[in-house]
Amino acid sequence: MATAVIIGGGPTGLATAMLLARRGLDAVVLDRDPPAPDRVTEAWDAWRRRSVSQFRQVHFLQPAGKALLDEHLPAVIDELDAAGVRSVNLTAQMARLLPDGPGELDFGAFETRTTCRGPVLEFAFVNAARSTVGVELRNDTVVVGLLTGPPAVDGVPHVTGVVTGSGEEIRADVVIDAGGRRTPVPALLESIGAARPVEEGVDIGFVYNTRYYRGPVAPEYRGDPLAAVGSFSVLTMPGDDDYWSVTLYHSPKDKALRKIRDPEVFDRVVRSLPLQAHWADGRGDDEVVSMASSANATRSYVMDGVPCATGLVPIGDAWGFTNPSLGRGITFALMHAVPASDAIADHLDRPVDLAAAWDRVTTEHALPWHDATVAFDKVRGPEVEAFRQGLPDPHDPDDMAVAGARAFGSASHYDAQVLQWFGEISNCLTLADEVVARPGVLGRVLDVAIANPPYATPGPTRSQLEEMLA
Ligand SMILES: Cc1cc2nc3c(=O)[nH]c(=O)nc-3n(C[C@H](O)[C@H](O)[C@H](O)COP(=O)(O)OP(=O)(O)OC[C@H]3O[C@@H](n4cnc5c(N)ncnc54)[C@H](O)[C@@H]3O)c2cc1C
Repeated sequence: MATAVIIGGGPTGLATAMLLARRGLDAVVLDRDPPAPDRVTEAWDAWRRRSVSQFRQVHFLQPAGKALLDEHLPAVIDELDAAGVRSVNLTAQMARLLPDGPGELDFGAFETRTTCRGPVLEFAFVNAARSTVGVELRNDTVVVGLLTGPPAVDGVPHVTGVVTGSGEEIRADVVIDAGGRRTPVPALLESIGAARPVEEGVDIGFVYNTRYYRGPVAPEYRGDPLAAVGSFSVLTMPGDDDYWSVTLYHSPKDKALRKIRDPEVFDRVVRSLPLQAHWADGRGDDEVVSMASSANATRSYVMDGVPCATGLVPIGDAWGFTNPSLGRGITFALMHAVPASDAIADHLDRPVDLAAAWDRVTTEHALPWHDATVAFDKVRGPEVEAFRQGLPDPHDPDDMAVAGARAFGSASHYDAQVLQWFGEISNCLTLADEVVARPGVLGRVLDVAIANPPYATPGPTRSQLEEMLA
């Protein structure tokens, strides 16, 4: 039986392992961190993954990711259900706040599960993988080198396995790099004489500050789950058990806002937001979990049709990651892992064809969503900076991409049909270009946007905010 060795046991590595096992491969997942606990109830308190700095940050599973799990990896959803994780439909909740409500429209496609706590969500992947025949999980195992065999193309190394920190050599028919955004594989490739993959990055980042709260009743939505408030954004997320979370994120240059790492200051800022204030009415954790994430990057492993190496397939964050302002990373990993796993299973004996097939599925399925997310940050990043410095709108009023995106977002607060279209985009189900290209969409969006005042989430001015932080 063919064997796949997978570097990394995060959501990408585990999903890929299960998908490959379903296609008849033996999948061995190697992860440098200790194993997950036995029970989901211990995931939050007892599970630490030193290698993954965002592990304890809020994690939302986009409805598109939930739909992919339903179709390809229902065992993960079964694990979430077995843990009593609630169903949530954020777009349907927004529809209830519309002036005329949701009307007859169906918002069912926007349903997902919510844990807010990353470890609880990830535990579902681990436990599903544990019970998948053909998947072997090996923790506390660090990959330090790549093995090579006879090349399939002259001058291009062919990867045939990995070397672990204990010196063990594990041979494989294919090696998957699911080592996350800080994967060691580009450096390991260089050490076997391969070209280093070309990394392209867009440096727009935010500092994410999340506080978890507990209480008998989860707060209701009175405004957007993710709202821009001048120089920061606020994300409110229901969770599993009796948890929920509030995240405030801001520019890394915003020294004043660093004070919100103090839980008291954090709550003060949340309470200044009329539509979100009640989300601080819970028993807050002692700590505000804070993390800066400043880059969006993709790595090109095939250049001018020539792969850096054959026998190696990067998936998920190891291939490309966006800064997480829209909470899409796991969904993107699934969008990538599903077709990439098929490409692997279909081309196992033809490494050159596999490299080309991987390049194709990456370009078709992963890259457009990556680029769409970076485009969003290119609007919001400069806005945040301008608000911080008291500068005017940084975007050219004639920039139709920016004006159109703003009109769409604003109109979605007044009209159920526009919200449904907007939901397709924000829930990662359909790319914006495809939605806007449909007959009638642009006209209705513009009509609604023009007929109503631009929607803005109420909150403090910059000087009121600075007073609060002082
Ligand atoms: C602040 C923040 C908030 C986020 N919020 C969301 C969200 O709401 N929703 C969402 O979908 N996504 C979110 N993301 C993104 C999400 O966390 C990632 O996209 C996702 O974790 C990627 O999974 P992965 O398996 O590719 O990588 P990782 O989860 O990083 O896993 C990589 C694994 O590889 C292992 N590894 C690395 N090197 C080696 C080695 N040499 N040997 C063995 N093992 C190795 C590591 O131990 C690690 O376990 C967020 C990210 C950040 C930074």
